[in-house]
Amino acid sequence: MSVRGRLAPSPTGMAHLGNAWAFLLAWLSVRSQDGELVLRMEDLDLERSSPVYMQMLMSDIRWLGLDWDEGPTPERELPGYHQSNRFHLYEEALECLREKGLAYPCFCSRKDLRMLANAPHLGDAGIAYPGTCRDLAADVVEERMQRGLPYSWRFRSQGKTFSFDDMVMGRQSATLEECGGDFNMQRSDGVFSYQLAVSVDDGLMGISEVVRGRDIMPSTARQLAILDALGMPEPRYGHISLLLGEDGERLAKRHASLSLEALRTQNVSPWRVIGLLAFAAGLIDRREEVHPRDLVDDFSLAEITRDDYTLTQADMLWLQGISHGTEDNS
Ligand code: GLU
Repeated sequence: MSVRGRLAPSPTGMAHLGNAWAFLLAWLSVRSQDGELVLRMEDLDLERSSPVYMQMLMSDIRWLGLDWDEGPTPERELPGYHQSNRFHLYEEALECLREKGLAYPCFCSRKDLRMLANAPHLGDAGIAYPGTCRDLAADVVEERMQRGLPYSWRFRSQGKTFSFDDMVMGRQSATLEECGGDFNMQRSDGVFSYQLAVSVDDGLMGISEVVRGRDIMPSTARQLAILDALGMPEPRYGHISLLLGEDGERLAKRHASLSLEALRTQNVSPWRVIGLLAFAAGLIDRREEVHPRDLVDDFSLAEITRDDYTLTQADMLWLQGISHGTEDNS
């Protein structure tokens, strides 16, 4: 069966070099295995997502010399590949989990949870949920619902350990308890969570390979739990290290000068961008202009760096087409 990967950007801002690094590595992995690549717009957050960013993302991906086989294009909309058009599928999945007793209503607000003195913070995984509403009696639930109290839907952990062979980081194992406990699948305002949507999409779209930043690793056990509960096949995962700004911080909107749009309008060559990313990933041993297709042969996720890469001033100069003769590229 051929490999099926995906590019799954959130169109909530301009894409930056960090997004380009994830796109490049996901693309290289699929192309090196003669697989197919799906483009899926993760616009669950209707308030922050915009069609302008979607167009920009597609132009950015093409500008980098990358492509995809299935999904919308700048010329043609394909709503089925936008999460905002897939809410009915998330609702069906949630209903199925409810029927299996694997979803329960939770009446705790964020504020309630924050106020729990002993709620440990789990970094990216947020606040650990202490299970407050996990075993509420049916009549209590009924009474609260009738009073119109807002509630979210949480996944009921079965205490399983989820293990997988990460294509970059090696063997991983986690329980949901280690990743924040019973997690949210639908907020009280009806918005489906990233965890539910992404698992249902990966499952229904037949995605067999997921390549994404290691910052999402704490979510993987949650997604495996949903896929397992829905009887959907699990993809292979590859969590790549992060590209950090010169300030050592994860690239974000405040690094506006590193947005692909900014680089493009400054006439930075996309082959310099790819060359820098390939160098940072350890695919080439010095910065040089390179087209992504020239990196496909022999590409293996198992061989890319596991360390985060902090951009340097030399990298910035390289992008601008300035390099010092004496600079050693290290
Ligand atoms: N939409 C997420 C992002 O743009 C990616 C989620 C995923 O790959 O699972 O970072």
